Amino acid sequence: MANGGGPEQAELQAKLANVQRLVPYIKLEKAEKLAIRLETEKEYDELYTHDEIEKLLSEVVSYWVDPDKCQACMICARKCPVHGIEGAKGLIHVIDQQMCIKCGSCYDACPEKFDAVKLITGAPVPDPIPEEERVVVRKGKGKG
Ligand code: SF4
Ligand code: SF4
Repeated sequence: MANGGGPEQAELQAKLANVQRLVPYIKLEKAEKLAIRLETEKEYDELYTHDEIEKLLSEVVSYWVDPDKCQACMICARKCPVHGIEGAKGLIHVIDQQMCIKCGSCYDACPEKFDAVKLITGAPVPDPIPEEERVVVRKGKGKG
């Protein structure tokens, strides 16, 4: 018999790590329920349904910067609480999906006129743009 500490353990650890990263997102999504004060353990047991949790985890949102729209204004990167947005002046910004805690601050902060941060639900996030393609090309600026 194989012992239980091998790949299964590693898989479980990885899943737990994933859920751990979602804690801020879950807190935001369930803020109303989390604020409720309950008296008994039974009430807590009944507060969340299995379907509700399934839905919450299957419809996890992601944030992604549309490279065609990003103007490298750096506002989102300054707002990110975990410093999960790579970028600099003149460089298209990229969200590090491993660091992102899905707080939505970048989505709220990106100026409406750029509308570059996108909210993705239940779908894979596009691959990050390669580093050599991150220089922002400003429209209307001809070559000298
Ligand atoms: S949602 Fe945006 S601001 Fe929030 S952690 Fe993710 S990248 Fe940072
Ligand atoms: S705020 Fe929007 S336009 Fe500015 S760097 Fe971030 S994604 Fe790009």
